[in-house]
Amino acid sequence: MNKKIMYTGTLFIVSAPSGAGKSSLINAYLKQNSQQQANVSISHTTRQPRPGENHGEHYYFVDHHEFESLIEQDAFVEYAKVFENYYGTSKAAIDGKLKQGINIFLDIDWQGARQVREKMPNAKSIFILPPSLTELEKRLIKREQDSAETIAKRMQKAKSEMSHYSEYDYLIINDDFNCALDALNIIIKAENLRTDKQFLLHQDVIDNLIE
Ligand code: 5GP
Repeated sequence: MNKKIMYTGTLFIVSAPSGAGKSSLINAYLKQNSQQQANVSISHTTRQPRPGENHGEHYYFVDHHEFESLIEQDAFVEYAKVFENYYGTSKAAIDGKLKQGINIFLDIDWQGARQVREKMPNAKSIFILPPSLTELEKRLIKREQDSAETIAKRMQKAKSEMSHYSEYDYLIINDDFNCALDALNIIIKAENLRTDKQFLLHQDVIDNLIE
């Protein structure tokens, strides 16, 4: 058998415009599949924490100087400027976990997704779209997190983010939340059942069957 992959964990890149329901879907997936080895990678960012966000839980909040020094140390798998702030995934956040067979979700934008695809061609990417622009705006208003001005900016940004959907392996339209969650489950289950991955996970069983 040709071992196509080095890691037993799979990297799932998930991108979406803010308000499309990306975080809710990932969190619901993790809750439903708590028996499985899966994690969301914690990124570094230079943006200020929002109320209720904690350092080391939602992000590693660092200043520009620290972020740039991490870039110089080649500490990131990818990084990008989003909404005037730096965001990046550190190598330390993913390498060890993938080697332990843990699936990792990267909640990152299209710029980061491009960098990861280039460096880690076995990563799978999923794009989540809202059912309409009207619905997206409604969801952003309902979150009560942002001012009208920020919402207008996010809507503008959403259009440019969404234009990159075709670079992704999978597309989910999050109209009905439960249907979108089913779709996410199906994608991950199918990836976990790939022959090369099953071989690495169940090498002994297969070796005993096929000598
Ligand atoms: P927020 O500030 O709302 O948490 O995130 C803003 C955007 O930055 C989201 O689209 C999110 O996916 C993206 N983002 C978060 N972490 C990273 C990261 O590590 N790298 C990249 N490239 N984008 C990220």
